Amino acid sequence: MPQKLSDQQKLVVQDMDAKITALVGRLTAADLRALLVGAAPGGPEEADFGRRFRALSGELAALGDLVQTEAGLSPSVGANTSITAGANPQLLRLELRPELVESVTSSHLNTLTVLHELSHTLREGGAFPVKDYAYRSEWAWGYLTPALTAVNADSYAELAARLAEGALGRPGRYGKLGPLPAQREHLRSVAGRTVLGAALAWVDLVLNRAWIRGSGALAHAEVDVPDSELAARQRAWSADPDQAALVAFEQKLVSEGLIAARYSGLGSHGLSWLGKGAVRGISDCLERAKQLLSRLEVVPVAADGGHVSCDASSGALMVWRGVFGEDVQRLGGRILEAVLAAVAPAGFYQPAYASRLRDIVDWLVENDRPQERLALQPLLRALTALPVPATTAQDWDALAQALPRAILADVATRWQLVATHAADTAALAPEKRKALQHLDTVLRRDVGQATAVSRRLTTTKAEVDALLAAVDAVAKQVVPHFKDEAARYADLRLELSVLRR
Ligand SMILES: [Zn+2]
Repeated sequence: MPQKLSDQQKLVVQDMDAKITALVGRLTAADLRALLVGAAPGGPEEADFGRRFRALSGELAALGDLVQTEAGLSPSVGANTSITAGANPQLLRLELRPELVESVTSSHLNTLTVLHELSHTLREGGAFPVKDYAYRSEWAWGYLTPALTAVNADSYAELAARLAEGALGRPGRYGKLGPLPAQREHLRSVAGRTVLGAALAWVDLVLNRAWIRGSGALAHAEVDVPDSELAARQRAWSADPDQAALVAFEQKLVSEGLIAARYSGLGSHGLSWLGKGAVRGISDCLERAKQLLSRLEVVPVAADGGHVSCDASSGALMVWRGVFGEDVQRLGGRILEAVLAAVAPAGFYQPAYASRLRDIVDWLVENDRPQERLALQPLLRALTALPVPATTAQDWDALAQALPRAILADVATRWQLVATHAADTAALAPEKRKALQHLDTVLRRDVGQATAVSRRLTTTKAEVDALLAAVDAVAKQVVPHFKDEAARYADLRLELSVLRR
């Protein structure tokens, strides 16, 4: 249940509002242009993006009591904007997980999460223009058109992140690092040689919309209508393009034999519990598919053969060399199928929808909310029309080495950020230096993946040396203050040294 903010939480929200206003004050046309790649300087996208970003200043305060906490939100979401469905949407609430407003901090991290959400509440005419198309830590980031960038919530978070880094003089502090961005950026750098990066972006865009729309379809599936109101409700649904599309999706499931049609019983009209269960199952599968896509390690297989497979437990996406001549639609389709197959329910009592998830994704995207469907169509068309470069077998084999190297380089970069943070902490008064203890556990979280990824490489000398240098940089800040910690870093060095070939 959403809760009103306590006085303490209101202070945190006020501080966030002040931080946002300060960031808006730093905005220049150059900041907007850096994110609107390919847009005409001073063009309509720049004007829209700038106007909306400036409108975020004071927006939190203006929402007043509509800003509430919701402990039931999943930690991966963090915050949620509750807007009514239908053609004439209304803002109900801005819901925040309580941790986001626990205390005032010097960091902008929570403010960036809230700012993403706040962009969804901007209203223009009768509509809320800012939606979710691509996220900073996912595959489609960097592939949006300027027009989509100006209506994408995480573009506002990215703009704010860069402004905050500029204000603090700490470039990269709020950047999204990790194995996925590392692989994505490498694939972008070789876009002239393979469409694999664009194919993953296409999968991300499609699966994200299907996932969001799947929860809309579930909400609709759970609605039972009293028989006496049925005719009026059906008229209202068909008059509203958003609801009409949800009805069309549900009818598609019926006509394909995946659920039984709505029926009347005990004075009420609706789906059977089995039908509702199937729609819930579909929605759950799409959620798992989205999570799996977020932790994929792309493994180009240096062997001929033309298939793609995905292992849900390790997150490895094996892409055989035989597929490198395929276009975005075909290769993206294979990746999407592999990810969906990895999360589909298996076993003897497999539900009928389990083998149809690929089609279901298409039906959901075709029946997306009209605003989002229209906005996304030009980009999906542009991605699938990309020319297929002539990838050679050598290019493919080089990619098989370059991707794991990119993952290891990302680990080293993040460890160096830990060293920078440690240096900041070491400069504080003695009683505030406690956070330096056991910092090695932060580094250790990556050792399993670094070990697995290094096995794919023919040589690892340079990569492991970079990791060792980062370990030493952290140890140099910690050990002078906590002598006992020296052994922990020596152990870590030893574990990494055995990977060096
Ligand atoms: Zn969002």
